[in-house]
Amino acid sequence: MEIAIAGAGIAGLTAAALLARLGHAVVIYDKAKEPAPVGSGLIVQPVGQAVLRAMGLLEALRGRGAPLRRLNALNTRGQTVLNVSYDALGDDCYGLGVHRAALFDLLLNAAENAGVRFERNCEVASVENGGESCRLNLVSGETSSAFDFVVDALGVRSPLVQRGDAFLTFGALWTNIPLPDDPAFPPDALTQRYHGADTSAGVMPIGESQAAFFWTLRQDSYDEWRRGGLDLWKRDVLRLWPQADQCLAEISDPDEMIFARYAHHTHRRPVEGRVVHIGDAWHAASPQLGQGANMALLDAYALAAAIESAGRVRDALPAFAKMRRRHVALYQAISWAFTPVYQSESRILPAIRDALTGPLSDIPLMRALLAAIVSGKVGAPLKALGL
Ligand SMILES: Cc1cc2nc3c(=O)[nH]c(=O)nc-3n(C[C@H](O)[C@H](O)[C@H](O)COP(=O)(O)OP(=O)(O)OC[C@H]3O[C@@H](n4cnc5c(N)ncnc54)[C@H](O)[C@@H]3O)c2cc1C
Repeated sequence: MEIAIAGAGIAGLTAAALLARLGHAVVIYDKAKEPAPVGSGLIVQPVGQAVLRAMGLLEALRGRGAPLRRLNALNTRGQTVLNVSYDALGDDCYGLGVHRAALFDLLLNAAENAGVRFERNCEVASVENGGESCRLNLVSGETSSAFDFVVDALGVRSPLVQRGDAFLTFGALWTNIPLPDDPAFPPDALTQRYHGADTSAGVMPIGESQAAFFWTLRQDSYDEWRRGGLDLWKRDVLRLWPQADQCLAEISDPDEMIFARYAHHTHRRPVEGRVVHIGDAWHAASPQLGQGANMALLDAYALAAAIESAGRVRDALPAFAKMRRRHVALYQAISWAFTPVYQSESRILPAIRDALTGPLSDIPLMRALLAAIVSGKVGAPLKALGL
């Protein structure tokens, strides 16, 4: 088949590599001059690792990432705010903290090696979706050739999906720093500090002696943050987390901090005629649960599996949606429920969180449930994919 993939992010590159490996002619359209990763670090959860293992890419990523055994957070009074131990699910269960570029490079190489053709500098505006084929309309005014189907992997701002304002009140500033040589920042744990749900910072090891450092910020406060200058901000961070001084010493220019806007939306129809939405274009969520990239990997794998087994587009696209719908609904609901507990202006939710998280995470069943949620395993998504 002739397949167009709109968007060369995690979902688009993975789908492109897998579909091209099946022998289909795949073209990726992206607005960037050169495909490039956006953002700083992320956690590849056990479900995402399963997809990469099936693609033969996991070992290479392991070599560049940091196995994370725990996700820990305390508040300023020393109470436990988050306590996830992957080993509640067994010794071989861990999150893989990676530099976004490490995952991106791997997927880009896989797509290129599989013979995917790249159309760079092509901003997609809309799709002609009807009959036996479909075409992409570009912002430049050009129209693509005809394809058997189009994969919308354009991320949370996809123009191929109609949605209201999906952006949340809070986002975060992110940057990469050398992992501090300090027992306060263990190389196998994501470490965070909270005050309420509107002030927090974190350090996430991402391999190669690097870490991602992040700071919660209201979306509408970014300009004010820039105007205030780094010194004022560093004082705020140190008030929250005095041990972060080594991290802050590495940051000397506001431009080193990328502001990531968080969003939450689920498109009700992942398949519309000959267009299939995957990754953040179908379902975006705040990164509190660290699932977005993993969901993108699962979607891409499911799409290729459906195409391989069903053959015809008419049968394959609904089969894809069936494989993924339940897991997507489950995790969008969990993320929707958890996000205000960890990022909002609520006073009540963090107070309940701070009182309950410590005692609850001492209960073995609760530890296993939390580890299963974060691992991406609730709803058995791998079983549906035959992995
Ligand atoms: C700060 C931050 C931290 C995160 N941490 C984690 C984590 O720990 N674990 C995790 O699993 N997930 C995490 N996520 C979520 C994860 O990054 C996303 O869910 C994932 O990148 C979605 O992949 P995607 O391919 O669907 O979209 P994207 O990665 O957004 O890719 C979209 C692509 O489409 C292109 N594009 C967009 N519009 C157009 C257009 N009109 N025309 C042509 N091209 C276009 C873009 O250039 C881009 O290449 C995090 C997200 C953020 C912001």
